[in-house]
Amino acid sequence: MKFAIQSRRDVQSNELMELAKTYLQDFGLEIDEEEPEIVLSIGGDGTLLHAFHRYSHRLDKVAFVGIHTGHLGFYADWKPSELEKLVLSIAKKEFNSVEYPLLEVQVHRNNSDSSTYLALNEATIKSPDVTLVMDIELNGKHFERFRGDGLCVSTPSGSTAYNKALGGAIIHPTLHAFQLTEMASINNRVFRTVGSSLVLPAHHNCVLKPVNDQKFNMTIDHIQIIQTDVKSITFNVANERVRFARFRPFPFWERVHDSFVSNE
Ligand code: NAP
Ligand code: MN
Repeated sequence: MKFAIQSRRDVQSNELMELAKTYLQDFGLEIDEEEPEIVLSIGGDGTLLHAFHRYSHRLDKVAFVGIHTGHLGFYADWKPSELEKLVLSIAKKEFNSVEYPLLEVQVHRNNSDSSTYLALNEATIKSPDVTLVMDIELNGKHFERFRGDGLCVSTPSGSTAYNKALGGAIIHPTLHAFQLTEMASINNRVFRTVGSSLVLPAHHNCVLKPVNDQKFNMTIDHIQIIQTDVKSITFNVANERVRFARFRPFPFWERVHDSFVSNE
C-alpha cells in the first residue's frame, strides 16, 4: 500500500511524521506523494483540510487519517500515542472506512465561464466593502432577498466549524445534506429573511444571484478566492465523497461531546 503524510510543520508534527514514515516503511509500505492510497494528516483539522485539497482529484482512491498534535479535532481524531496501533492496522489492512458527503459549488460568470469547487467544511460568500445583497433561489424558485454580512453553506462534517459559530445546527455526517446559514442579516420592516439556517437534502439545490455588486470574497474551506463578474452560484451535495479510515469506533456525537461539552 502507498501512503503520503501531510504535517502542520510544527516541531511535534514533523517529529511524528518522521516516526510514522519509519514505522510504515518498516512494515513494507511505500511513500508516494502523488498517488497515495492512504493519507496521514498530522496537526489539526486545518491540516486535514490542506491534505483533502491536495488530493481532492482522486477522492475515490484515497482514505484519510488525522492525528492531532494539538487539541482533539473532528477530522484529526487520533492521538499521537495511538500511532503504533494505527500503523499496525494500516499494514495489516485491518480498518474500516466511513464516507462523508461534500459540497459542490459552481460559480457561473456573465461571460459564460464557470468554475466548480469541492468543499469539505464550507463555502462562504462575503462582500468586501458593502452589504452583501443576494437573491436566494431554492430549487429554481425565489426564496428571499438576503442583505447582510454574508452567507455560509456547509457540509454535515463542516457543521461543527464556521457554521456552528454562526448559530447553525450540527448535522450528523451520515445525512446527505447541506446547510445554508446567515451572517448578520438585516431584518426590519423593509428587509426580511427567514433567520433560521436551512438544511437541504441531496436532491435540492440553492442558487445565489447577486443583485448589484458582482464581486465577492469567497472561501472554500481555508482557501480564499476573489470572484468577479458573477452571474450566479449554485450549491448542492457533491457526487464525490471523502473517505476516512477508521481503526476504532469514535462516534460523531462523542467527538461533539469531547470537543464542545467536556473531555471527561
Ligand atoms: P483556523 O482559523 O485555524 O480554524 C479555525 C478553527 O476551526 C480551528 O480551531 C480548526 O481546528 C477548526 N475547525 C476546522 N474544521 C473544523 C470542523 N470540521 N469542525 C470543528 N472545528 C473545525 O483555519 P483553518 O485551520 O485553516 O480552518 C479553516 C476553517 O476555519 C474553515 O473551514 C472554517 O470552518 C473555520 N473558520 C471558522 C470561523 C469561526 O468559527 N468564526 C471563522 C473563519 C473560519 P484546528 O485548530 O484543529 O485546525
Ligand atoms: Mn487551524
